[in-house]
Amino acid sequence: MLELRPNCENCNKPLPPAATDARICSYECTFCADCVERVLLDVCPNCGGGFAPRPIRPATDRKGGNFLGKDPASTTVRHRPLDGAAHARFASALKSIPPALRASTPPGRCAGRGGPTRHPMSS
Ligand SMILES: [Zn+2]
Ligand SMILES: [Zn+2]
Repeated sequence: MLELRPNCENCNKPLPPAATDARICSYECTFCADCVERVLLDVCPNCGGGFAPRPIRPATDRKGGNFLGKDPASTTVRHRPLDGAAHARFASALKSIPPALRASTPPGRCAGRGGPTRHPMSS
């Protein structure tokens, strides 16, 4: 399940569960739309993948108890501002490649995480 991290890892902007400008990579590295566009250049600094808008988890129990009341957003703040120059170097090789085509380059891993979380529905 998505952690719904509470803030942008780069600029520390609050990204509550209903934020429409939250962006995540496939490892759930979480940034605001501004940082993804202007600073990250749609290149995740931790894994090199692209970003997608984070889905919004309902705050109301409309079906089966699947809502924020039972599965609240993470409160663990990750604030690791980018080294702009270093990221520009890292992104320069990747930003011109659409994220779907970056898959053919050797896969990266997010720093600070053990890897992808298993999807709860896939078992
Ligand atoms: Zn940001
Ligand atoms: Zn990532």
